[in-house]
Amino acid sequence: MKKDKAVIVFSGGQDSTTCLFWAMEQFAEVEAVTFDYNQRHRLEIECAQNITKELGIKHHILDMSLLNQLAPNALTRDDIEVTEGAEGELPSTFVPGRNLLFLSFAGVLASQVGAKHIVTGVCETDFSGYPDCRDIFIKSLNVTLNLSMDQGFVIHTPLMWINKEETWKLADDLGALDFVREKTLTCYNGIIADGCGECPACHLRKKGLDDYLQKRKER
Ligand code: ZN
Repeated sequence: MKKDKAVIVFSGGQDSTTCLFWAMEQFAEVEAVTFDYNQRHRLEIECAQNITKELGIKHHILDMSLLNQLAPNALTRDDIEVTEGAEGELPSTFVPGRNLLFLSFAGVLASQVGAKHIVTGVCETDFSGYPDCRDIFIKSLNVTLNLSMDQGFVIHTPLMWINKEETWKLADDLGALDFVREKTLTCYNGIIADGCGECPACHLRKKGLDDYLQKRKER
């Protein structure tokens, strides 16, 4: 794989930034793609730009405003509250078809730039109930992409079976813990690094980091 090229779906958050460091170690060349779907926080795109610039990664920003037009949600609209979703219900941050569309467009980009590999930070373990974060969906889409373009793409999901604590460990193993901690944006309220500390994304991120740092200290 070391001589191959990869395209990574990149949001500038903890997960995809950790995956970017992983991809840089795995592949000779990596290009990042960020989708602009009128995220509430324009800072997300700025953040992605700054990170790729600092790491010397070619960065594509693609307009996906159509997604917001079709499916307004808590990530794109100020008047929709972020809620965790009751038993059996999807959280208000779920955007139907998001990963289907993002990964399909990433596939088109990969075919254009001659990349065989597609990397995404989706994860089934910290399960927020998003059906398009499931491993079975990714495997199914991988087959579909290959059939649709007559290609041999391989979709990589380094975080699929690990939790937030293990994601911090992976960043640390890649020598990127401080980078990920200080330069990424995960917070639903648009506050970089450690975030607002109040929203579900901040809770998940902080708990994972605290657990990991605690374990590291005990080693
Ligand atoms: Zn937050």
